[in-house]
Amino acid sequence: MNTIDKFNEHVMPTYGRYDLVLDKGEDQTAVSEEGREYIDFGSGIGTNSLGYCNDEWVDAVCAQAHKIQHTSNYYYTKVQADFAEKLCGITGYSKMFFGNSGAEANECAIKLARKYSFDKYGKDAERNIIITLVNSFHGRTMGTLSATGQDVFHNYFFPFLPGFVNVKANDIDDLNKVLEENKDKVCAIMFECIQGEGGVVGLDESFVKAIFEAAEKNDILTICDEVQTGVGRTGKFLASMNYGVKPNIVTMAKGLAGGLPIGVCLADEKCKDVLTKGTHGSTFGGNPVVCAGGMAVLNKVSEEGFLVEVVKKGDYIRSKLKDLPEVTGISGMGLMMGISLKTKQAGDICKACLDNGLLILTAKEKLRFLPPLTISYEEIDKGLEILTKLLAE
Ligand SMILES: *Cc1c(COP(=O)(O)O)cnc(C)c1O
Repeated sequence: MNTIDKFNEHVMPTYGRYDLVLDKGEDQTAVSEEGREYIDFGSGIGTNSLGYCNDEWVDAVCAQAHKIQHTSNYYYTKVQADFAEKLCGITGYSKMFFGNSGAEANECAIKLARKYSFDKYGKDAERNIIITLVNSFHGRTMGTLSATGQDVFHNYFFPFLPGFVNVKANDIDDLNKVLEENKDKVCAIMFECIQGEGGVVGLDESFVKAIFEAAEKNDILTICDEVQTGVGRTGKFLASMNYGVKPNIVTMAKGLAGGLPIGVCLADEKCKDVLTKGTHGSTFGGNPVVCAGGMAVLNKVSEEGFLVEVVKKGDYIRSKLKDLPEVTGISGMGLMMGISLKTKQAGDICKACLDNGLLILTAKEKLRFLPPLTISYEEIDKGLEILTKLLAE
């Protein structure tokens, strides 16, 4: 049996997959079982932030695997402490929690926000509503699905969790209306600065400002889901830094450990001691091998000039695409981009790119680029040449 048939025989069919078996990779190029090469503009889904098998990352991961691969969270490891110190140092947050995925990071944020209000206002106040945005995406667990503001996800698995109310992104009147309707019941507002799965839709600065003003006035916590936008993706270490705001809570995951499973919840001074002994946990959380990979990512991304290069490469791609007749708009920031097409279907172009040796993504009706942050101009040119040709056909 070939790989695809064997896989489909034994794995639940929860994804739409292409008929492609990837075997290995180097830098920004993946190689299939048949030995065919693919330039990668997707980096997993923004996870392989340093590309495939980056030397420093491989060395760090292998060295840690040789040393100690796991301990329970009854004990400490140095690599966890080093990673946490570095991440808190870069972001300016006070404390963090270690999980293994974006959904798990957001579960932690939801629990933290509810407990903050519970501790301060008491159980009877029922101050537990979390406002999330229409068209958001926060994960696939029952909690984060309930938080996700897209009706397509709210099917089959009833009942969903109560306590989430949606506001239209970039609609300040709707925000104020919903806050008024739920007066003294809201404990947090949760949002993505750029809605990734929702179609690479950025929040307006005025809307973000309105969120923070309302939050400040009513002792409501702000939670920024930076699972997709974090770790330099938008040209700043966190996307929220582009808006000049500091949310109380930030979640990160996808690109944080260079392709290994991680999810973290960062808390500021006000929130750092809300989750106490026994209130939260994760068996694999803070895995030493993962932390070693994460440390290699943090070291690279915090190198002098690295993020400036991310912005420049993003601008370069935009300049190459913006005047193409088929391109009607480019959204996003840095190396997170959504490309709107005039007549062609993003899904068809994505498939055609694959057939021509380029991996890209879609988000709603747009093409989506999330290339490795380390992509070179030469690799960008190679990928864009394939895409440009297909868009002109
Ligand atoms: C991908 C994503 C998630 C979910 O992450 P998982 O690791 O798949 O659980 C949550 N929020 C955002 C913004 C995402 O892009």
